[in-house]
Amino acid sequence: MSGELKKSDVEVTILIAEETKRQQETLDLIPSENIVSHAVLEAVGSSFINKYSEGYPGKRYYAGNAVADKIEILAQERARKVFRLGKEWGVNVQALSGSPANMAVYFALLQLGDKFMGLNLSCGGHLSHGDPVNFSGRLFKPIHYGVDKKGLIDYNEVHTLARREKPKLILAGTTAYPRTLDFKKFGKIAKEVKAFFMVDMAHIAGLIAAGAHSSPFPYADVVTTTTHKTLRGPRGALIFARNDKMIKVNEKEVSIARAIDRAVFPGLQGGPHDNQTAAIAVALGEAMRPEFKKYGHQIVKNAKALAHALQKLGFQLVSGGTDNHLMLIDLTNMGISGREAQDKLEAVGIVVNRNTIPYDTRSPFDPSGIRLGTPSVTTRGMKEKEMKVIAELIHEALTKDTVSGIKRGVKDLCQKFRI
Ligand SMILES: *Cc1c(COP(=O)(O)O)cnc(C)c1O
Repeated sequence: MSGELKKSDVEVTILIAEETKRQQETLDLIPSENIVSHAVLEAVGSSFINKYSEGYPGKRYYAGNAVADKIEILAQERARKVFRLGKEWGVNVQALSGSPANMAVYFALLQLGDKFMGLNLSCGGHLSHGDPVNFSGRLFKPIHYGVDKKGLIDYNEVHTLARREKPKLILAGTTAYPRTLDFKKFGKIAKEVKAFFMVDMAHIAGLIAAGAHSSPFPYADVVTTTTHKTLRGPRGALIFARNDKMIKVNEKEVSIARAIDRAVFPGLQGGPHDNQTAAIAVALGEAMRPEFKKYGHQIVKNAKALAHALQKLGFQLVSGGTDNHLMLIDLTNMGISGREAQDKLEAVGIVVNRNTIPYDTRSPFDPSGIRLGTPSVTTRGMKEKEMKVIAELIHEALTKDTVSGIKRGVKDLCQKFRI
């Protein structure tokens, strides 16, 4: 396999080399990104890419799927093992990414125009949780809860809103929220108002797998996740749904797991990406090993160390710190915008993303904050000591005009902790 691309397509070979070099020579602090193993890369580029497998194992619409069945079943079984689940949970591995996975759940459990509750985008929720520009906000009726002045989810507000609005589904899940989620509280509220309880654990799936964040499974009816964030797999998604909770579809009782399978295919997609499924299986295999547990806990230790060091240097963090893999810096007191900070950091090789902070007075295009996360640098092997160095580099990049020393610092770290 290796060397073929170089022979057949120089242009693409050069661009791949350029991107690899960019990743090797920069520090990636984007919390939704990670670095997959060579084993995962190999599986993505495997012969499974050539196969059409519309349908599910044992029920395909094309011939030649005996092996595709095996890889899909293996991915499902490993997914159950990684999250310590029994057969009462169905697993769908076919949704192409996180947003389509959420779409499948809404289409399975809601009617068009139905009310559901999710966290506001500006408070750390995801676009696909009912933002007006997203399908989820256009086809359904989102009721958004937010965070309080301290930046924390106000469970009393969630409770009050749920009782008043009677949504059909309550969604807990975040993209830019630095604290742990209380799934038990959410679950109790959902139960009281007879709503489905859905968790979108896209950002924290790797932490949950490692035991570094509490698990939503004892409380949720449905759990979705991307596979490419802290879980450290290929781009893709998993949907877990209860086999033992029934709903009516066209006058027939079916499990919500079955309803979601049908929403994915034939509802939203044609054939699954079997090469992604193979790579998801590889990533889940890695997540079953003891090293993964260490990695998950180290992500959190690193985030806490980075947060602490930044605070000592005068940075304000939304909610005052972090419990997970990410933090939000409110740059207001530094006299610099999120956009400027993102650009200044990129110029020295530190890759972050600008982000709104709760109750931001600036626009999402040039907000008041930046979001930092530790998954990628943790995968590279960095520990608390390096987080202190990174905090100092960030501080210097945002407060000083000379960048040569900072660039050298970034280069040193990148060389010591190679991809
Ligand atoms: C990243 C993310 C998604 C969407 O994933 P894509 O694969 O980018 O579509 C959905 N929900 C949450 C909470 C996320 O963080």
